[in-house]
Amino acid sequence: MADGHDVDYLVIGAGLAGMAFTDALISETDARVLIVDRRHGPGGHWNDAYPFVRLHQPSAFYGVPSCSLGEDRIDETGPNAGFYERATAAEVCHYFQEVMDETFLPSGQVDFWAMSDVVGGGHGTASISHRLSGATTDVAVRKKVVDARYLESSIPATHTPRFTVSDGARCVPVNDLVKEAEPAGGYVVLGAGKTAMDACVWLLEQGVDPHRITWVKPREPWLIDRKNLQPRDKVGDFIKDWANSVEASARATSAADLFERLEACEALVRIDANVEPTMFRAPILSRYERGLLATIEHVVRSGHVRWIQPDRMVMDDGEVMVPAGALFIDCTAEGLQSPTPRPVFEPGRITPQGIREGSPSFNSALIGYVEATRGDDLETANDLTPPNRYPSTAMDWIRQRHTGMTAQMRWDQHRDVTAWAEGCRLNVAAGLGAHAGEPGVGDAIGKYLMYAGAAIENLAKLHADAGLS
Ligand SMILES: Cc1cc2nc3c(=O)[nH]c(=O)nc-3n(C[C@H](O)[C@H](O)[C@H](O)COP(=O)(O)OP(=O)(O)OC[C@H]3O[C@@H](n4cnc5c(N)ncnc54)[C@H](O)[C@@H]3O)c2cc1C
Repeated sequence: MADGHDVDYLVIGAGLAGMAFTDALISETDARVLIVDRRHGPGGHWNDAYPFVRLHQPSAFYGVPSCSLGEDRIDETGPNAGFYERATAAEVCHYFQEVMDETFLPSGQVDFWAMSDVVGGGHGTASISHRLSGATTDVAVRKKVVDARYLESSIPATHTPRFTVSDGARCVPVNDLVKEAEPAGGYVVLGAGKTAMDACVWLLEQGVDPHRITWVKPREPWLIDRKNLQPRDKVGDFIKDWANSVEASARATSAADLFERLEACEALVRIDANVEPTMFRAPILSRYERGLLATIEHVVRSGHVRWIQPDRMVMDDGEVMVPAGALFIDCTAEGLQSPTPRPVFEPGRITPQGIREGSPSFNSALIGYVEATRGDDLETANDLTPPNRYPSTAMDWIRQRHTGMTAQMRWDQHRDVTAWAEGCRLNVAAGLGAHAGEPGVGDAIGKYLMYAGAAIENLAKLHADAGLS
C-alpha cells in the first residue's frame, strides 16, 4: 500500500467476517484496504477459543474464498469418521495468519494494523489508536467503512458471567478445564449451547463417568445433524436433507406440525426425546456426539444460574445441591451476537451480517462480491443481502429459513451472482449439478424446485400466525 493513511476501505475487525469480505473484494477490484483489529493477529475470537474446540462444520467451506483450509479430506477414523475434516482453533488461527501473510499483504492492496482500536471517526475519516504505543492515527477513507465487528463473538475467555460466585466455589471458563490437575468432586457444566456440548463431550472422552457430570440447561436445543452439512463429494446428502426440510416447510399446517415434520425427516434432531426443544442456535453435531451427551442423566432444568456456592446453585427456579468439591465450568457466553439487523449497505458504510443460514463465511464473501460489482447501487445491493439475524429460539428457525430462501431466489435472478456462488469454495451446495446422477440426488433437486416457492410463502404465514414480525 502506497500510503496507509489514505484508503478505499477501512475494515474494522480481522475475524472471519472482515477476512472473507476483504478476500472477495480484492479478488474483483484493485481497491486499497486497511484492516484493523485490536487483537494481535487475524482470526477474531479463534485467538481466544478453548483448546479442544474445532469447527463444527467442515473446514472445506469455512474461511475466505481464495484459500483452502485443510485438504478437503474425509476423516477415515475417529469421532469424525465419514465426514469432512474439521479444523482446530489453532489451525483456524494459522490459516488466517497465512491468508494475511501470503495473500493479502503481498497483493499490495491490503495493510493490517494489529493491536489497534478504531476509537472514532466521521464521514470519510477514522481515528485509530494503537493499544501499546498509544499513538493515534487519522485515516482518510475514500469509499466505505466496513464494520466487521458487528457480530463480534462473545466467548467464555473474555465475557463477564451474569452470575455471582461465592468464595470457596470453583468456577472456571471452559478454556481452563484443560489446566485441571486433579479430579474434581463433580463437574457442573453451565450452558445449553455448543460450547457446553463440547465441554461435556470432551469430559466424557477423557473418561469422566457421566454420573459425575451435572449439565445445567436453561433451554433444550434443536440440533443439526453433521451428516446433513457435508459439501463436495457428499453434497448429495446435503441436498436430500435440504429438499426434505423445504417440503416440510411447504406442507406444514402449524409451527408445531413443522417441527414434527423436520424431526421426522431428521432435518432437526435433539438429545432428549422427552423434552420439547425451545432453543435453536444452529449447533452441528454428529450422531456419535449426541449419543455421548445422552449418557448424561443429571440435567438441571431450573432456568439460569444466578449464584454459585460451594455446595449449591441458586437458580431462577430454586436451589440445586452439587457434590462437595464440584468444579463449575462456565459455558454461558453468548457466542455469535444477535444485534438488531440493519441494512448491509448504507452510504459510506457496510455491515456484514448473516444472510443464508449457517454460512457466515459465504455471507461475508458474498457481501464483498456484491460491493465489488454493485456497491454504488444500494437498492440492488441490499436486495441481494437481506440481513438474517442469528437465531436463538426454535421459532427463529422459521424466520431464518424464510429469509435465506428469499435471498437465494433473488440471487437466482442475477447470472453473475449464481456463477460466483457456484465457484465459491464457501458454498456448501457448490458443484451439486455434477452429482445429479447419484441415487436420490436428482429426485431431491426436483423436490426442492417443486416446493421452494410454496415453502417461502408458508414459512411467512407460519411466522405471522405465531404473532412474530
Ligand atoms: C466456539 C465457536 C465455534 C464456531 N464454529 C463455527 C463453525 O464451525 N462454522 C461457522 O461457520 N462458524 C462458526 N463460528 C462462528 C464463526 O466462527 C465466525 O467466526 C463468526 O462469524 C465470527 O466472526 P466475526 O468476524 O463476525 O467476529 P469475531 O471473530 O469476534 O471478530 C471480530 C473482530 O473485531 C475486532 N474488533 C472489535 N471491536 C474493534 C475495534 N473497535 N477496533 C478494532 N477491532 C475491533 C475484535 O478484536 C475481533 O477480532 C463459531 C463461533 C464460536 C464462538
